[in-house]
Amino acid sequence: MKDYYEILGVSRNASEEEIKKRFRELAIKYHPDRNPDNKEAEEKFKEINEAYSVLSDPKKRAQYDQFGRVDGDYSDFDSGFNFSSAFDDLFADLSSMFGDLFGDYRYERRRPQKGDDIGINLEIDFKEAVFGAKKEVKIKRRKTCPKCKGTGAAKDGIKTCPYCRGTGEISYSQGFFSFTKTCPKCGGTGRIVTKKCSNCGGVGYVYEEEKLEINIKQGIDDGNIIRIQGKGNPGKYGGPDGDLYIYIHVKEHEFFKRKGRDIHIEIPISMTQAALGATLKVPTIWGESELVIPPGTQSGHIFTLKHRGVELNGIKGNQYVKVRVLVPTNLSKRQRELLEEFAKESGEDLTYKDSILDKFKNLFK
Ligand SMILES: [Zn+2]
Ligand SMILES: [Zn+2]
Repeated sequence: MKDYYEILGVSRNASEEEIKKRFRELAIKYHPDRNPDNKEAEEKFKEINEAYSVLSDPKKRAQYDQFGRVDGDYSDFDSGFNFSSAFDDLFADLSSMFGDLFGDYRYERRRPQKGDDIGINLEIDFKEAVFGAKKEVKIKRRKTCPKCKGTGAAKDGIKTCPYCRGTGEISYSQGFFSFTKTCPKCGGTGRIVTKKCSNCGGVGYVYEEEKLEINIKQGIDDGNIIRIQGKGNPGKYGGPDGDLYIYIHVKEHEFFKRKGRDIHIEIPISMTQAALGATLKVPTIWGESELVIPPGTQSGHIFTLKHRGVELNGIKGNQYVKVRVLVPTNLSKRQRELLEEFAKESGEDLTYKDSILDKFKNLFK
């Protein structure tokens, strides 16, 4: 049986911090990058990782202390262990130790880089969203400074970097590692500006306002994003320009509420229309539609007008019409008499005897 404590060279009551520290030391020592083609080091490296994966986990460690093994067959180490995440952790550890040595190496500046994206908000009307529209937007994009062509230098205000002799990078080795690092003096450009461009102040770009006509597609919805390729800030070192993202905000409509392709509205109907039935004209985004209310319609009932919703990609949604029955107020004498007669005909007693409250009481008996 493998003794994980022995592998890491720590005592059985070592703290988590000690275990982590020891693991880092050993992992760096036996890392395959530092020991190319060394089978022994590779085995050792695996062993260290295995030991650490158990001892760094308090639950697994307790299990190991008690039973000398952990659930999950760790002897079949290669298949059971998530290697890539162990390597990622290690890499994070290494880069935090070596600091910007790795940082510079990974973010080499002369590689072609895509320009930054630009994001803008665009508010449109409900109708524009439903039927589509053309909108003009103004954006501010970076443009290469026309005066210095992006160098940031005034005329004759530029010289070759003496530190890297114009190559933009410097090489050096540290221990087993060999690095190429972006020249810290010139930032990888190979040149040093001695006098800044007066037009851009040395940054190499200016902001320019640009007007764009945006095509709003029929059926676009609140929260949609339109992406326009290549209308962001310019790329660097020959990289492509960034993109423009337009975040669409649709103003709410007074009556029509939209859910995807469907439209919802609520309309008031009279008590008699609800009771006796009626044919109504209902507004839709496509104009008026007829809605047949059958006799005995309850308040809150939702009717469907098929294909009267928003059209998106050739498919139309529905319009849902919720009716709200209005109870008449300010009755005339005659109206009151008729309703009282109606109640009598229905066998209703308008006093509170045997009222709804009593029915509820019976419910809980
Ligand atoms: Zn300039
Ligand atoms: Zn340089």
